[in-house]
Amino acid sequence: MDGGPGDWVPYPDEPPYDPYDDIAPPEPAFPAAPAATGGSRAAPSRYATPLEALETVYGYSAFRGDQKAIVEHVVAGGDAVVLMPTGGGKSVCYQVPALVREGTGLVVSPLIALMHDQVDALVANGVRAAYLNSTQAPDERARVENAYLAGELDLLYVAPERLNGEQTLRLLERGTLSVIAIDEAHCVSQWGHDFRPDYLALGGLAERFPGVPRLALTATATPATHREITERLRLPDARHFVASFDRPNIRYRIEAKTEPRAQLLSFIRSQPEGSAGIVYALSRNSVEQTAEYLARHGIDAISYHAGLDAATRARHQSRFLREDGVVVVATIAFGMGIDKPDVRFVAHIDLPKSVEGYYQETGRAGRDGEPAQAWMAYGLGDVVQQRRLIQQGDGDRAIQQRQGQHLDAMLALCETVGCRRQNLLAYFGQASEPCGNCDTCLTPPDTWDGLVPSQKLLSTVVRLKRERNQAFGAGQLIDILRGASTERIRKLGHESIATYGIGADLSEQDWRSVIRQLFARGLLVAQGEYGTLALSEASGGVLRGETPVPLRRDVIGRVSRGSGGARKASVADQLAPEHRGLFEALRAWRAEQAREQGVPAYIVFGDATLRALAEHRPANLDGLAGIPGIGERKREAYGDAVLAVIAAN
Ligand code: ADP
Ligand code: ZN
Repeated sequence: MDGGPGDWVPYPDEPPYDPYDDIAPPEPAFPAAPAATGGSRAAPSRYATPLEALETVYGYSAFRGDQKAIVEHVVAGGDAVVLMPTGGGKSVCYQVPALVREGTGLVVSPLIALMHDQVDALVANGVRAAYLNSTQAPDERARVENAYLAGELDLLYVAPERLNGEQTLRLLERGTLSVIAIDEAHCVSQWGHDFRPDYLALGGLAERFPGVPRLALTATATPATHREITERLRLPDARHFVASFDRPNIRYRIEAKTEPRAQLLSFIRSQPEGSAGIVYALSRNSVEQTAEYLARHGIDAISYHAGLDAATRARHQSRFLREDGVVVVATIAFGMGIDKPDVRFVAHIDLPKSVEGYYQETGRAGRDGEPAQAWMAYGLGDVVQQRRLIQQGDGDRAIQQRQGQHLDAMLALCETVGCRRQNLLAYFGQASEPCGNCDTCLTPPDTWDGLVPSQKLLSTVVRLKRERNQAFGAGQLIDILRGASTERIRKLGHESIATYGIGADLSEQDWRSVIRQLFARGLLVAQGEYGTLALSEASGGVLRGETPVPLRRDVIGRVSRGSGGARKASVADQLAPEHRGLFEALRAWRAEQAREQGVPAYIVFGDATLRALAEHRPANLDGLAGIPGIGERKREAYGDAVLAVIAAN
């Protein structure tokens, strides 16, 4: 496969495939558009240098990481593929070139619901930004189109499906584009977890707008997805900027699931008062019940899933974005493109289907770089359920195999006795050292020799099958092993199985842990409609005593007993006591401003800006220039008000 950057690290067990085998390539060259009708103007370059734009618009004094190299490359007309973790600062990479080059920057972004906030944030910084999507009234759309043609827009956000239609493409051709940014570029990957068919057509932009530099950006890409992005978006000559995917401020924890809701509640209660968070569950039902449970226990929790009507969804999303300390319980329909920087935790009460999904969802915590938590409870039921879903799914064999690989990688992460972060980063092809900020680093898990219990269990499965032609799920097997005297045991005569009662030394919970781990390693499989347990080909090695079975001792609820970090996570807590009063006063002022304008608080100022204000107490407008996050426009809009708050506190 030619055309990629050349030095691909192969993705583990990646089946070789040609991405163009199975899908028709994006439409061949678009028909030539009619010549521009004239009368349009290019938006002039607003700033002479990238640094000038960065300082004046955003109030930042320096570029971060690869930002400078990326911006310079694009300003000079080059294409780029940018892999940067959430919170890494991708927006600057395309917004600054759009402000420096002549013309309007086109941003392709998949989530219509969020364009509004993205554009608001830009406008608050004095950038002339607008969007085109299906939610707009015709006259509003006409206004934006005219502004584009008149050269009055620095940035134009467009939903991908718009670019599938000739109408929008013709419009864009009549004006002047400075740069094309394709955000969430992993959506082009057909094998990925967020595939969007509309993204496939975006490769056509290469021919349609030759000479306009293009960037593809994402925070989630295995080497295979990276390759697909490069090929399908037709970026053969792009420079590749691959930042470390690490999110050092996020603490990862995965614990065994016993009573998920109670565990979740105690996790949330261990977080600083007023922490905003997202809880992911698989089904709508579970979302509703969990949100109710949390609300009943005094947590400000709301639900979000595709079964709610649009108005309710919009209201809940808006509460989450605009108010402090709201916990949203959601299916994965929620969160893509959510820019809220101060989400303090992301919790999973069901197992995600892939490491990509997990990493992207947990990545929504702590975009502001402040300490944040990723917590998950996972159990035997999750594994059995997901294996069954894959087997019963309507995918062909290749798809099932792929889903199985995704699940195996996820299970390996859950059951690892090594550093979680090391495991995660290795999955994305990046080597690292143990991190010191995940559960296994902080409290290395005990391991124990599970060979004998595993043999007892497997041999019970064998006996039931051979002697009675029966198969059961975990519950009955555990009852047999523990010598329980239930009605079902008596009715089925299971007291007479040779292994009856030989596992009384382990608790029911221990047995579940054994079964889950055997399952995760493929030493047990589920069969049939009811997911009854059966041996796999690999089980023989355990029965013969040839395959060692080191097991991880489950840790449950350790987080609720407090293990540092979490409680100190709030921004106010990190301030010296003498600055806290002013910080709180600024926060109250910000909330008032946000309410008046109907925008999220972070669009007024981020927490980092308030903290710097509280610490440095600038006395006049010039002093505000040194505060990160206060550019020219915000100094004009809020400078006097902020100075008044400082003077009064
Ligand atoms: P991403 O889109 O990669 O998730 P954003 O573009 O939203 O990240 O940026 C994440 C945070 O970092 C934002 O709060 C942004 O204001 C801040 N940021 C970005 N670049 C810089 C910089 N050069 N200096 C200071 N803060 C920055
Ligand atoms: Zn670690």
